[in-house]
Amino acid sequence: MKYNRTYNFSAGPATMPEEVLEEVRDEMMNYRGSGMCVMEMSHRSKVYQQIIDEAEQDLRDLMGIPDNYKVLFIQGGATLQFSMIPMNLMKNGKAVYIETGTWSKKAIAEAKKVGEVIVAASSKDKNYTYIPDCSDLDIPEDTDYVYICENETIHGVTWNKLPNTKGHVLVSDQSSMFLSKPCNVSDYGIIYGGVQKNIGPAGLAIVIIREDLIRDDLTDLPIYLQYKTHADNGSMYNTPNCWAIYVCGKVFKYLKKIGGLEEMEKINIDKAKVFYDFLDQSKLFKGTVVPEDRSLMNIPFVTGDPDLDAEVIAYTKKAGFENLKGHKSVGGLRASIYNAMPKDGVVALVDCLKKFEAEH
Ligand SMILES: *Cc1c(COP(=O)(O)O)cnc(C)c1O
Repeated sequence: MKYNRTYNFSAGPATMPEEVLEEVRDEMMNYRGSGMCVMEMSHRSKVYQQIIDEAEQDLRDLMGIPDNYKVLFIQGGATLQFSMIPMNLMKNGKAVYIETGTWSKKAIAEAKKVGEVIVAASSKDKNYTYIPDCSDLDIPEDTDYVYICENETIHGVTWNKLPNTKGHVLVSDQSSMFLSKPCNVSDYGIIYGGVQKNIGPAGLAIVIIREDLIRDDLTDLPIYLQYKTHADNGSMYNTPNCWAIYVCGKVFKYLKKIGGLEEMEKINIDKAKVFYDFLDQSKLFKGTVVPEDRSLMNIPFVTGDPDLDAEVIAYTKKAGFENLKGHKSVGGLRASIYNAMPKDGVVALVDCLKKFEAEH
């Protein structure tokens, strides 16, 4: 490896495309003749306006975002959206949430502070190892929206088929699967995510919101918490996370260059298959999620013995693989293999785990 970098399986902040880091390095001291680094630039400058405009346009091209959707760059990570969504969308004070793991649970807890939350389906009974059947949910007529976390980063479950919302607005947290595959934006009212899992540096959320969901009757809400504020000001009501937007823009261009989201999905399926095929034939390691709901991005797995799990983590670390410890709430191991993780990294990790298995 060119820079003696490690294979980093972190769930986020996570590995980035090397090509993007190289470009950022090359532009560090003098961004395209501006005489300064992007970190040093006024967000009101022409040169920065072009950076944010291009980032938005490239994201629109990649995802095929229709014109009646706004793209907002908002600080506060995905977590702030747990609050902003109910504060802005609960007109009738009622929303349906599907509970599929840690991140949807956190969103539920915040929404309950704003209005009535109906948990219409949950996979809690089996420790969030599957996606519940949501083809015929009981959804009250006056529900403001239906909320899902489309890829549960900690539990490693993903939605392959969206819930039947019966005509209600669908809101999706795509933090850990953003841009991992094509997405039909018009199926949703809001798609949002923190960018530090699958796109860029931490401290930024991207919110793709259908225009009719942006309300102007929320004047009592703190101004920063209204989507309208961000939409009316081109995501620059105040100083945005200029740096993260710049780097995300580079990742969008990189994804376009490699062939867009169709190509990215092919790569991700192929890459994840290497790991799941290994788990399925292993006598020592087991995946924790039912096969049909397995994530392409986050793969939790266990040996069944916490002491042995700890041994595996130490063993892989010594061999140069970082961040394979499962989240503290679930234990075991987890390999996060986002867009930027090369297949070589997954193959090398599997070889290492095979070696461990042979020795034990
Ligand atoms: C990481 C994560 C979050 C929280 O993101 P922050 O940017 O740290 O607030 C929310 N949802 C999902 C699915 C995540 O993976």
